[in-house]
Amino acid sequence: MGRLILELRQGGVTDSRVLGVIENLPRSLFLAGPFKDRWDENVALPIGYQQTVSQPSIVGLMAQALEITDRHKVLEIGTGSGYQAAVLAPLCRRLYTIERHAPLLKESELRFQELGLTNITSICGDGAAGWPSQAPFERIIVAAAAPDVPPVLLDQLSSGGVMIVPIGLDKDDQRLTKIIKAQNGVETQDLGPTRFVPFIDGRVAK
Ligand code: SAH
Repeated sequence: MGRLILELRQGGVTDSRVLGVIENLPRSLFLAGPFKDRWDENVALPIGYQQTVSQPSIVGLMAQALEITDRHKVLEIGTGSGYQAAVLAPLCRRLYTIERHAPLLKESELRFQELGLTNITSICGDGAAGWPSQAPFERIIVAAAAPDVPPVLLDQLSSGGVMIVPIGLDKDDQRLTKIIKAQNGVETQDLGPTRFVPFIDGRVAK
C-alpha cells in the first residue's frame, strides 16, 4: 500500500470506496511543474491563481462524510484542479462543479476527459448562486471557506441532503462542517479544524 493511502487511513479515512478511488487516481496529473513529483505528500499544493489542490486526507474525509451513493446528484463549488471532483465522480450519479477561474476550469475539463470521467458537468461561474436549473442536489460540497453556510446552497440541498462546507474566514480558525437538512430543521456537525482558501462571494474572476 502506498504512503499516501497509509496517511489517509491514519487521518481517519476508512471508507474503502473512497480509499479505492484515491489509490487509483494519479494525483500528479493535477499538479504542475516542480509540484508533480510531490503527488504522494499529504499536503495542499499550489495550482496557480493563489489557489491550492486540497490535502488528500481532507479530500478523503470530505468525500467520506458526504456518504455518497451512485444515486446521488452532487454539486461541488470550487473545482480548482479538478482533483476532488475526480474523487467524487466515480462515487455518484452525476457531479456538477462550478469554478470562478476560467483557466483553472479549462485545465480541469481536459483532465476529466483524459481520465474518461463522463459524468461531470462543469461551468465557470459564481458558486454562491449555486446551480438553480439542476437543483435540488442530494449532496453539496464547498471547497472554499465561507463565513457561514451559504443560504442559496442550503435552499438547493434536497430534503435529507448533506452539505460539507469549511466555515470561518480566519485561516487559523476554520471548522469543517457537516450540514444535514432534516425535515424539522438543519442539523450541524463539527468535523474538526481545517484550512481552505476563501470562498469568494458574488464575483467571477476576470
Ligand atoms: N477542490 C479543489 C481545490 C479547490 S481550491 C481541488 O481539488 O483542486 C478552492 C477553489 O474554489 C479555487 O479554485 C477558487 O477559485 C474556487 N472558488 C472560490 N470561491 C468560489 C465561488 N464563489 N465560486 C466558484 N468557485 C470559487
